[in-house]
Formats: sequence, structure tokens, C-alpha cells
Amino acid sequence: MNPTEEKEAREIIKKIVLLNALRYDGKAAQKPVFGKLLGEHPQFRQQIKEITPIINEVVQEINSLTLERQREIVEEKWPEELVEEKTEETKQLPPLPNVKKYKKVVTRFSPNPDFVLHLGSARAIVLSHDYARMYDGVFILRFEDTDSKTKKPKLEFYDVIREDLEWLGCRWDTEFIQSDRLPIYYRHAEELIKAGNAYVCTCAREVFHEKSKAKQSCPCRILSAEENFVRWNRMLDGTYGEGEAVVRVKTDLGHPNPAVRDWPALRIIDPEKYPHPRVGSKYRVWPLYNFSTGVDDHLMDITHIIRGKEHLTNQARQEYMYKHFGWKYPETIHYGRLKITGASLSKSEIVKGMNSGKYKHWDDPRLATLAALRRRGITPEAIRNLIVDVGPKPQDVVLSWKNLYAHNRKQIDPDAKRYFFVQNPVKLVVKNVPRGFRAKIPLHPDNPEKGYRSFEVEPADGKATFLISTDDLDTVKNSQMIRLMDLFNFRVEKVEESGVEAVFLGESYEEAKEAGAPLIHWVPVGSGFPCEVVMPDASVAEGVAEEACRKLKPDEIIQFQRFGFVRVDSVDGKLTAYFAHR
Ligand SMILES: [Zn+2]
Repeated sequence: MNPTEEKEAREIIKKIVLLNALRYDGKAAQKPVFGKLLGEHPQFRQQIKEITPIINEVVQEINSLTLERQREIVEEKWPEELVEEKTEETKQLPPLPNVKKYKKVVTRFSPNPDFVLHLGSARAIVLSHDYARMYDGVFILRFEDTDSKTKKPKLEFYDVIREDLEWLGCRWDTEFIQSDRLPIYYRHAEELIKAGNAYVCTCAREVFHEKSKAKQSCPCRILSAEENFVRWNRMLDGTYGEGEAVVRVKTDLGHPNPAVRDWPALRIIDPEKYPHPRVGSKYRVWPLYNFSTGVDDHLMDITHIIRGKEHLTNQARQEYMYKHFGWKYPETIHYGRLKITGASLSKSEIVKGMNSGKYKHWDDPRLATLAALRRRGITPEAIRNLIVDVGPKPQDVVLSWKNLYAHNRKQIDPDAKRYFFVQNPVKLVVKNVPRGFRAKIPLHPDNPEKGYRSFEVEPADGKATFLISTDDLDTVKNSQMIRLMDLFNFRVEKVEESGVEAVFLGESYEEAKEAGAPLIHWVPVGSGFPCEVVMPDASVAEGVAEEACRKLKPDEIIQFQRFGFVRVDSVDGKLTAYFAHR
């Protein structure tokens, strides 16, 4: 290398080292710099001896600078490298409409605690939460638990939902539970009835619908406000039984959508037959969805409702009530449906599968519930980034698991430690092994500071025995040379049911590379830890994980090399992990 060439090389190395340092908190590491240099500039492969000291020197020099100084240098010399990084980081939600009209932006997430949350719910949560934060506003969690008959809430789900929100990183500022607020709904119902804007309908359902379809008033609608107030008290005191009376809010009887006309606001639920999990049999008159939600959105000063477009009809209904009260309807953002290929985001379908025994628990890996995703090692950051990517657009969106996995990989790849897991193990005996080997393999290829795992291979009579995966048998059979990762090269002589017999070929990685030898993972026979990986289709992959896996802790996310990322679920006598993705 002449001085000019050396100067050029130094400049190229400096850029790689700086970018590596910026990625890792100001500390570049030699190995990844080396890999990147040879990958991007193969001409240096012939000059490794001259290049190595330059890399060492530059790494030392750059690592002695502060992170700010490193960034300054990159900004000055290679600004394009930073632009890319920035645009990726600042993916933002589009602005909310009419924010200036309000003193404070207030949003809400309002689940019925009758089941756990799934990826679809995450959209409502993340958008409502992030918008509140974006405008320094308030994010409300409101449990809508007023139907103890057909969508009966369960006590356990109040907490499960709270935990899911915490896990997603969406802390709420205030919490309300609708079953605490019955007197408020009664007061508002009475106000509407007294003003003649609502009435108690005792018609059989078919009779009302017949009239409504013909855009005609039912006999109850024309009764006086006083008469309706008497009827209202009969609902409360038990004179009317379940199904015998409902409060209806008056609308335009000519509204084009029959479902909007004089919609039901409160009804009777038999308190003995359907006691409420929180308030028991205390109340027999319960608000229906549009009434309690509409009243609460106003009383809680919600400024922006962010929800699915299936709620458009509800808005049409509620706007009549808002007019009766003289209230202003909040801003609404209706987003399109969210689907993910191959998994149901319909609560009722998931519940059906649970009841039929198809799914044992709501965190079954086949489901897109937050609990299931969490168990598989999908991070909340990945879910949040995915949701922000999609945003609140009104078009329907079909997500693929690949989208989610790509986001997740970005989160976990820089940290996940690498290990070997041999699925369906088969014995491999290699003969002519000249000596004992001690393999020291980094826990992370780009971050040697994470440490190493080590393997002892002691041949007996020149024979060393390993476990390799049955899935690699074809590869092993059809190659002239195969390399046990980070160990040595071999060639197969015989494949039998009892195992594979092979002969040692040498240690050189370069030779293996030149020969295009496939790399396979392995575990020395007699070592290792029984391991089960629960796959996304709920099947179980069985095998042996390397010895170092005994020290793993539940919740760690690791990568089984050539297999995929998994989350450690339990470590007791054997390792149980859940598969995330490749
Ligand atoms: Zn009627």
C-alpha cells in the first residue's frame, strides 16, 4: 500500500468506524467494522495484514471522542448518513383536526372488559394515547361495562386490560368505570324524558320496527312527558320486567337509516338472572352503548374520538342526543378496518374458538391478542411502530405478519444473544479429529462485549461426536465439505438411521468459504439442555439447546442460530421457548 492508498483506506475506515460508534453509544467495535469493510470493499481482502493495524488505530481514536463530536464529524463529512437515520426515527402521526378550538386535547380508550385486547385494539390505544401526548393533552381509560347480559364483563379482564396498556407503554391519566356511573345516566335520561326528547316505549320489538320502517311514530312516542316519566319510574321500580320497556331517544323518523330512528338508550336487565360482576344486582335499568358513551364523551370533555369507521352510524345516533342537550359533538377520526393475514382480530371469533376448546388460553400463539404476541417475544415498541406506520387512515389495511416481524427484528436483533438449538437431533461421528478443540463463540456477532459461550470438544480415539439437526441431513449428505459453525470442516462418509459418519477435513474457515461449504450448528454429544419451542401454529419443535442455555431467564429474547428468534418462557429441567419469527 502506498501512502495515497493508505490515506484513502483510512478515510473509508474512519467513516465505517464513526457510523458504528454512533449506532452503539459512541463505542465502535473492531469486528463489525472489519466485516463491513471487507463486505463493502472486497479489494482490502488481499491486504488484511496492512489494514488491521489501521482499523485498531482508528477505532481507538474515534472511541476517545465524545458522542457529540462523533456526530459532528459525520454531519460535516457524510451528512447523507444522518438524514436517513433521522427520517426513520421521526415517523409521525398526521395532525388532529381543529386542535386550536380546544383548551386541551382529551382522548379516550374505552374497552368492554369482557375479553383481552388484540392487535386491533392496540390501534385505538396507541393512536388515542399518542395523540394526547403529542398535544400535551389527557388520555382517559374508560371501562364500558354496562351489558351484563350479552357482553358480560369479567373481573379478571379489568386488570388484564390495564396490564396490556402498561405493557404497550400507554399510561392513562384518568380512569372511569361506567358501572360506577349509573346515577349520572339516570339523571340524563330523566332530563331527556322531561323535555319530551325521549320516551319509554313498551311496544313489542316487532311492532316498533314495523312502525319505524314505515317512518311512523309508535303509540308511546306521542304520550305526554308526564306519562313517560311515570313509565320511567316503573322501569326503575320493577313494574316492568326485562324486555317490557326501553327508553328511546327521539330522532328524525325520516332518517334514511332505519337503525338510527328513535334508537334505544336504556333497557331493563333482570338483575337476579344477570348480576353485574362489580355492582351485583343493584341496578335493573342499564344504559345501552350509544347513550352511556355519548353522555360520557361530553361529561369527560373528550375533544377527539379516534375509532373504527363502523362507529359512523353511532355518531349519527348520538348527534340527535347531543342536539337535545345542546352539546357540541367532539371531533371524530374514523379509521378503516385492520386485518392481519391468517389471524382473526374479531373478538367474537376468538371467544368462539376459546369456548370450543380450539384455543386453550387467550395467549395461544395462533392468536393476535397482545398476550399472545407478548409471549412470543413481540415487543411493544414493534407494535407501536407498526400502528404509527399505519396511522389513522380511513382505508382498510391488511397487515402481514412480515410487517410486524420486520419492526420487531429491528428492536430485538441488536440485543438478542445467539445460541445453538438442534431440532430433532441425530448423531454425527467425525473421525480423524487430530486434537481437542475449545470453541469460543460470541454471544452476539456484532457485539463481542456481550461475551462468549464456550464448547469443549475432546475426541476419543480421534472420534468426536455431535448432535446435528435432522433437517440438515440432506445438506450434509449432498456436500463435499460441511463446516460445524466456528469449529471445523468435515465430509460425510456414511448416513445411516443410527447417525452420520464423517471424516475431519481441517479447521480453516477460509477453506470452507472457498469451497462454498454450508455452515451448520451443533451441540457436543453428552452436553446440552432439552428444549421445546412452541411454534406460531401451536405445534412444538423439540430438540437440544446448547449447555449455556441453562442459565437463561424467563422473558429473555434470544436467537437460535439458523432457527429464529424465540422468547424464553420457562427454564426448569428443560427450556421452553416461544417462537417469534426468523
Ligand atoms: Zn312504543
